[in-house]
Amino acid sequence: MSVMVDIKSVHKSFGSLEVLKGIDLAVHTGEVTVILGPSGSGKSTLLRTVNHLEKVDRGAISVDGVLVGYRRSGDKLYELPEREVLRQRTRIGFVFQNFNLFPHLTVLDNVIEAPVAALKRPRKEAVESARRLLDRVGLADKADAYPRHLSGGQQQRVAIARALALEPRLLLFDEPTSALDPELVGEVLDVIKDLARQGTTMIVVTHEIGFAREVADTVVFMDDGRIVEQGPPADVLDAPQHERTRSFLSKVL
Ligand code: ADP
Ligand code: MG
Repeated sequence: MSVMVDIKSVHKSFGSLEVLKGIDLAVHTGEVTVILGPSGSGKSTLLRTVNHLEKVDRGAISVDGVLVGYRRSGDKLYELPEREVLRQRTRIGFVFQNFNLFPHLTVLDNVIEAPVAALKRPRKEAVESARRLLDRVGLADKADAYPRHLSGGQQQRVAIARALALEPRLLLFDEPTSALDPELVGEVLDVIKDLARQGTTMIVVTHEIGFAREVADTVVFMDDGRIVEQGPPADVLDAPQHERTRSFLSKVL
């Protein structure tokens, strides 16, 4: 099976704080990888390096075969040129905890913004495709609404439609349901499950263990900047090998 994201020995520090202490992870095309771990363990930073929102200090990341940044000890850091970084970022969808919709734009305009501005798609074509995507996330009737008139769950579904509008090869989710009232979590997870069924390659940071068990091909448990263990959900969630994993799971389950 082909590898969509290949993370090799990635290190990242903020000042004297080493946040990623040598991460190795392969995400296969068409698979869902769920990352679990306590707050501060480096999950968001790892996602951000994949999307080039953070540069690595050492190690290498390639996305769909394009190498992003690497340094062997002593070597000069190789970095992808900025223009190429921007081009790659348009092929990776990122869904944030707090939706990050443009408040002054309607739902439809939120979804067509990137295809029109970044990919230079004709507006008419972008609108047609946006309407299809809104239908797919169950919000066809909200195209002309403003984000402030939507529930959190609806806003997050718009954010997912907006990410899909770039026809990404890879979708990254950073705690997509953490900001939602409990009764709205399900509608967002259902959309993500639907994407999984269609074979979308995804990395999902979440504390929703039930979702991980149902949808993940691989579950990764991170603690203190390292991957403590990874494997199929039945292994990591039901028969964890490490005390730190067991202790974390006992708190979130
Ligand atoms: P998680 O998503 O697992 O909660 P993060 O990747 O957000 O963890 O953060 C890991 C550690 O890195 C935390 O201690 C956090 O405070 C720190 N950190 C994250 N981003 C920055 C930044 N831009 N500057 C300084 N420290 C940061
Ligand atoms: Mg985080």
